[in-house]
Amino acid sequence: MSDIIQLLPDHVANQIAAGEVVQRPASVVKELLENAIDAHATYIKLIIKEAGKTLIQVIDNGSGMSVTDARLSFERHATSKIKTAEDLFELNTKGFRGEALASIAAIAHVELKTKQENDEVGTEIKIEGSEVTYQEACVTPKGTSISVKNLFYNIPARRNFLKSNAVELRHIIDEFHRVAMAHSSIKFDLYHNGSEVFNLPVSNDRQRIVNVFGGKTNEKLVPIKEETDLVTINGFVGKPEYAKRTRGEQFFFVNNRFIKSAYLNHAVTAAFEGLLKEKTHPSYFIYLEVDPKSIDINIHPTKTEIKFEDEHALYAMLRASIKHSLGQFNVAPVLDFNRDASMDTPYEYKGKEAQTPVIEVDRSFNPFKEEKNFGESSTSNKNYTSFKKESPGSWENLYVGLESETTTPKAIENDFSSVEFESTEVTGSLFEGDEKKVGHHTTYQLRKKYIVTTIKSGMVIVNQHRAHQRVLYEELLRNITMASAVSQQLLFPLTLSFTKKEIEFLEIVKEQLENTGFVFGKLSPGEVEVTAIPSITSDKEVSLLLEQLISDLENEVPDSGFSQTDLLAKSIAKSIAVRTGVELEPEQQQYMVNSLFACTEPTITPDNKPTFITLTVDEIDKKF
Ligand code: ADP
Ligand code: MG
Repeated sequence: MSDIIQLLPDHVANQIAAGEVVQRPASVVKELLENAIDAHATYIKLIIKEAGKTLIQVIDNGSGMSVTDARLSFERHATSKIKTAEDLFELNTKGFRGEALASIAAIAHVELKTKQENDEVGTEIKIEGSEVTYQEACVTPKGTSISVKNLFYNIPARRNFLKSNAVELRHIIDEFHRVAMAHSSIKFDLYHNGSEVFNLPVSNDRQRIVNVFGGKTNEKLVPIKEETDLVTINGFVGKPEYAKRTRGEQFFFVNNRFIKSAYLNHAVTAAFEGLLKEKTHPSYFIYLEVDPKSIDINIHPTKTEIKFEDEHALYAMLRASIKHSLGQFNVAPVLDFNRDASMDTPYEYKGKEAQTPVIEVDRSFNPFKEEKNFGESSTSNKNYTSFKKESPGSWENLYVGLESETTTPKAIENDFSSVEFESTEVTGSLFEGDEKKVGHHTTYQLRKKYIVTTIKSGMVIVNQHRAHQRVLYEELLRNITMASAVSQQLLFPLTLSFTKKEIEFLEIVKEQLENTGFVFGKLSPGEVEVTAIPSITSDKEVSLLLEQLISDLENEVPDSGFSQTDLLAKSIAKSIAVRTGVELEPEQQQYMVNSLFACTEPTITPDNKPTFITLTVDEIDKKF
């Protein structure tokens, strides 16, 4: 049989290699920015069009290339950064594989202009799908400009695989942040579709972080510093009270290279032990300097995971230095193993003088009034929907838009088409302290998680958190589509801090958010002013609600208006739905059950999880 093995032509090999290096426009951005840094640029400008799908251009004032190097730079395994395998362990550059430009040129239209300082003229090269189509001398300033156009033009499958512009831009901005934060001594600009998105002047690390994430970041940072033979640790951790639901702002840089490490992340989290609210994550910006010999960067094609020689020691040092800083800057309570944690003074009261409590008696308070008004006034309505026991002091919430009446009363005059309730009452004395009877049937709360009630055929067990999600979801959908929500005007507008990228996400769904009842004053990076909020939520929930929403949008930016509305309603419903562990008054339990069965789709949550189960008398009989 004849020989069948052949060497792949270069352009095919390059396309295959490109699959590893270039997953999306953001990968090109990363490679080009890193090349500019390796060329010792002090100013790097990134220009993007249509989230990088039509243009990614990086202009630097670095060393530039000679004519020969310019041509060679597009060859596979062509690099000026290492010569021997040993050099891999002395790396001071970002690149070393010599693959990026070859890969990019295989799958896009690339134009290069470059000139070295002492050369009279520069070189211009155009390449399409690995083919050089143009090479001439040109007039160009010192440094290099590379334009990458029509990415994946010759691989339609890859091009179709790209996500919406919002998602791709998000990835690009993430890469830009990572590179920019690792190099505060370089000036960076980012333009998207002709407008400036970031302008980061030369600064120190702290100022760079603030420039990237907004002015309010500064007060949240606690510096960390540690120097040992093994590692130099610098950087900042966010104060525990600013910990977020999302993991957004967590950065490790090793020798000025952004890396991911679940292990080191664990060390940071361990240092915060006992200081964080459940399910929140601290932010951190940690710069580690280690001997290049002690790490292996070669284990991952995009070089974001590296191997440390002495990971355990690094873990211990990192944790200790963060703990030390949190203690030194007085953000962690002094460790005392016998102390009762509930006696701790909350941070916001630290240093404040104790005041004699004032007793206020509300003489007009009538404990039975609310029950009587149930379902009649919008105020009590609101209480039942949001399950907040609001003090009469919530006077700062002035209601607006009341003429449009909430939709909730409808929920009460429900038709129980799917479940028929028992009409003979169970004696209230069966349930401790629950003598009151509202409506036609009795409910009972089990473990502050389930609401149990009877139906003709047996009993229903409703999951309170899930049921409330369904109720709120349908209400929000209605409100968004019909713009019929009721707002609570805040006397003191809330000012929240979000980053530029987070604002972009809010902008996408701004109109829908307004339809739910939000009113925004300013919506700009570092400062989001909320002047009114949906009546079904409370001002304390707003910050987490918006954070959760942004994080949901980050995972998937919906393209169509309908799916945006759906995502928004789901996300908000999930954030504000009454949690497990919250005790519900009998009226609230009733309201929950009634509203659930008044829903169009009462059986499942918006995420398709069951909201209740039934247990028939037959099934119960069988158990005896
Ligand atoms: P690597 O960065 O791994 O060496 P690349 O394909 O990214 O591989 O680049 C190949 C070579 O082209 C680099 O080693 C460098 O010598 C040269 N080069 C690329 N970009 C620039 C730039 N912006 N300025 C100067 N030289 C560059
Ligand atoms: Mg490179």
